[in-house]
Amino acid sequence: MKIDSKGNIIVGTTAVLIMALLLVCIFVVSTINYIEHENIDSASNDNFRYIVEDYAKNLEVIERDSIAEVTQKAFDGWPIFDSEKEIKKKLEKHLAERNIEYEKKYDVKITSEALSVENTDSPWYLLFKVKLNIEKDGESYSDIVEKQVPVEGLRDPLPIAKLTVASGILTYDDTYHYGTALSGYMVLHHFDSPESYIEATAPLTIRKCPYDPYIHHGDPGVMKDCLDNGYFHESADGSCYLCRLEGNGKCPHYGFEVFIQPHTPLKNESLSCSDHVVFADHYNGQKLDGDGYSLILDNAHRKKYGLITDETD
Ligand SMILES: [Zn+2]
Ligand SMILES: [Zn+2]
Repeated sequence: MKIDSKGNIIVGTTAVLIMALLLVCIFVVSTINYIEHENIDSASNDNFRYIVEDYAKNLEVIERDSIAEVTQKAFDGWPIFDSEKEIKKKLEKHLAERNIEYEKKYDVKITSEALSVENTDSPWYLLFKVKLNIEKDGESYSDIVEKQVPVEGLRDPLPIAKLTVASGILTYDDTYHYGTALSGYMVLHHFDSPESYIEATAPLTIRKCPYDPYIHHGDPGVMKDCLDNGYFHESADGSCYLCRLEGNGKCPHYGFEVFIQPHTPLKNESLSCSDHVVFADHYNGQKLDGDGYSLILDNAHRKKYGLITDETD
């Protein structure tokens, strides 16, 4: 009896131990399995997220390229009637190319649509909206991607769009050289003293004036430096980049203003040299000979740029 019961105890204990070992094994195997699956899932998540982020990040580049291509079209002498539509058309082409590229590279399915190109409350940026849909292995991303795209560094299309290539206006040394293009335009519209704008010049590339608030242009040397660098200024009266492409010197949006520099010894009264005045508003200013520069400016603009005390006429 005693031996039997001892044997029973040994058998029983062994069975319990084996059961415990089995349970531990099952637990370990299932845990490993779970962890492995978890890793696979998050790896594919990471991969998909990377593709989406990479695509969205690169949007800004092709959006800016699209603006630059429409700008080039204006410089090639084509009239732009609807700049937003033209930019969207260029962007659609870039998007289609990119979608094929991504589909090949990452085995994804992409549909995209350029929804809009709009002004923002800063004239230095245009707002792009692109509807984007990306799918891969049952995962999907769908959103409207918005990007603020800078126009600084692009060429100002207004003078060439307004006066046309046929006017004889030239661009070199990062400068518009008007020759007789502007004085011809002024003769045509019966403005005062068109001879004042023979051989006038203006900056070509859009650069933001760092002398802000603008009243500091009245400080010693500032106006000359601003003109030498060809800086552009914010202006509620000046036209925005989209409207410049269409040759509009003035628009309802918040825009830019740049000085057209006359190089004349004459003191005749003529159009004030802010570009929205020359191309759209058409009111006169008086000659202002400053320290190393010469402009034709009305009183409102002299005030805006802190030049009212230099008034000589
Ligand atoms: Zn300035
Ligand atoms: Zn506008």
